[in-house]
Amino acid sequence: MAGEGIYFDGRSAKARIVSVIEDGLMLSFQGEDTPQQRWSIKGLHPIDPPSPGQPYRLSHEDYPSQRLVIRDGELVARLVARSPHLKGGYSLRDIGHLLGWTVGGLAACAGLAYVALTLLPQPLAAMMPAGWRERTGLQMETAMAGSSKRCATPEGEHAIGTLLANLAEGTPDMPPVSVHVYDIPVLNAFAVNGGRIIVTSKLIAQADAPEELAGVLAHEIGHVAHHHPEAQSLRLAGMEILSSVISGSNGGSFASNVALLATVLRHSRAAESEADAYAEDMLTHASIDTQGMKRFFEKVLKLEGGSKPEANSTLAEIGNIFATHPGTEERIKQIKPLPPGVTPKPAMPDSEWRALKKICA
Ligand SMILES: [Zn+2]
Repeated sequence: MAGEGIYFDGRSAKARIVSVIEDGLMLSFQGEDTPQQRWSIKGLHPIDPPSPGQPYRLSHEDYPSQRLVIRDGELVARLVARSPHLKGGYSLRDIGHLLGWTVGGLAACAGLAYVALTLLPQPLAAMMPAGWRERTGLQMETAMAGSSKRCATPEGEHAIGTLLANLAEGTPDMPPVSVHVYDIPVLNAFAVNGGRIIVTSKLIAQADAPEELAGVLAHEIGHVAHHHPEAQSLRLAGMEILSSVISGSNGGSFASNVALLATVLRHSRAAESEADAYAEDMLTHASIDTQGMKRFFEKVLKLEGGSKPEANSTLAEIGNIFATHPGTEERIKQIKPLPPGVTPKPAMPDSEWRALKKICA
């Protein structure tokens, strides 16, 4: 029995009407501009829990940017009855419950819980499904950006693409990332879940050469490669569960609270060292001058010191790049020059750098 659905291919906003059937272990659908596709039921994740009379939105771990919306209530009921994981999917709360399993039993002993929260999230983060990374990353970016304008000119986007391609040279296993610039008057750049890297207009304005931005991006890609943002989210979910176990209350959605996001984005010194080491390797393999990163941080330290940004800005709670990347001064000293014999290459052509500097104009 076929049910009606709407399919979004992740490339355009176009809604395509499709007919959906269960086909053994697969969900198969086809229709308008859509040749037959077969998604494993096992890999499906509901975006919201199914609710009678509401369209049921699904993502799939193998196709994180695509969406299938099922409008046929009977089909939804059949799917959920045979595959209980389709009742709620992964949400921070579920992960919290998962951690709660561990942490709940340990709640009487705060010392052990602390150890669990310190050690568990990192290996767990590497195992989280793509759909979860994608969804929580989008939530975090939306919460962070608030009402600030996203800066995106075709030339500027092209320049970012060139810079990423140059960085990837010599690091073929670089994780997929997307870099988004926002018009925010606080100097910062950070990675959130799902490989999203957010760069503020003030950071672009303060960079005097593409190698400076290359250094900052290589560092953020290091956080992505080590799953640091995801680990921090899980750590926070664990802490929320721990505090609700103790106080008997329910925690709210972490992404709705910018102050909580600040906790997620503040990395440990160990995470900073890992990201720095990754960045130094990446720049060296790409023959991009590592001293760009060094010059940039020295300059910024002189300009801003450890100061808190103006209180009315969107990112005030989060602070500038020194608040989210601690230990800057000692870290600057550790950045080594390119090895002898390696001739530095420009991170991007001058014309593209000029276009990128104007991305928020
Ligand atoms: Zn960092």
